Amino acid sequence: LFKGGIVMESLASIKAVVMDKTGTITKGNFDVSSVKSSGYVTEGELLKICASCESTSTHPIAESIVKYAKEKNADFAAAENVEELSGMGIKAVYEGRNVLCGNKRLMDKFNVSVPSENNETGGTEVIVAVDGKYAGRIVISDTIKEEAKSAIGKIKKQNIVTAMLTGDTEKTAEAVAKTTGIDELHAKLMPEDKLNELKNIRNKHGEVMFVGDGINDAPVLAGADVGAAMGSGADAAIEAADVVFMKSNMESIPDSIAISKKSVAVSRQNVVFAIAVKVIVLGITGIYSNMWLAVFADTGVALICILNSVRILYSRY
Ligand code: ADP
Ligand code: MG
Repeated sequence: LFKGGIVMESLASIKAVVMDKTGTITKGNFDVSSVKSSGYVTEGELLKICASCESTSTHPIAESIVKYAKEKNADFAAAENVEELSGMGIKAVYEGRNVLCGNKRLMDKFNVSVPSENNETGGTEVIVAVDGKYAGRIVISDTIKEEAKSAIGKIKKQNIVTAMLTGDTEKTAEAVAKTTGIDELHAKLMPEDKLNELKNIRNKHGEVMFVGDGINDAPVLAGADVGAAMGSGADAAIEAADVVFMKSNMESIPDSIAISKKSVAVSRQNVVFAIAVKVIVLGITGIYSNMWLAVFADTGVALICILNSVRILYSRY
């Protein structure tokens, strides 16, 4: 869905496509792969505490932890004073205890020391702290969309640079970039850093399209030359975007660019053709033109232009 023809014109001259990772390149359906407690609370408690604090968040990470807790029949309840720190995680009070669930940055902010641990799986870690003490971590993994690699390939074939922005760690980001063939990657970004990074990419390559789901990336969506939202994204994103993909399939990115390029080319053809016919008819017959010739030069040409435009509907990408 293109919101206006000007969007198509901008899209036809895009030089770089910048994408968010979670929910755009990956499915955003995380699976919990391990729950490890530090011994300060039991594993069951760790899951219960974390799910309680995440239960009101719409972040894909939060939703998957809540889903897992339900599957495990953990009896969690809504936490109090829930604060969502975007790009970091959750701060809340559960059963009178201060809880933090999020990444290393969140732990650093509240001076919680976290023992380093090898995380070979490359999954995303949600670290949990209770009353300022490290309580354990829940490792979750997301899957890359099946079509991601071929879609990135198609974008590159259009001579467009591809880049990924994410708030996740470098390790997770690198794994995704490697599998999909994305040119540039920028990890560990706060939502506001994403906009700066977008501006850098714009200075380097030219007009940028940003594709995201609107969760922690709404400012970038609004700041790009063309902002595109995945159909599965947040309502605010769909509102703010210039282009909305009806499915959350990544092939929509190269397709929308191809459709725009084709449409702009066809409308140029039509403009040139319509003016040329009028000039020629006027040149041959002068102002005292033959009636039928004049009708052709005006309405006939318009019909031909419409038929020419209809071709776009039948093109395959
Ligand atoms: P992305 O760029 O991958 O879409 P976000 O900006 O949404 O990531 O989030 C960045 C990081 O912040 C996540 O990888 C996660 O570590 C942390 N985070 C954000 N929201 C939450 C949450 N509700 N619970 C736990 N961690 C979170
Ligand atoms: Mg996101």
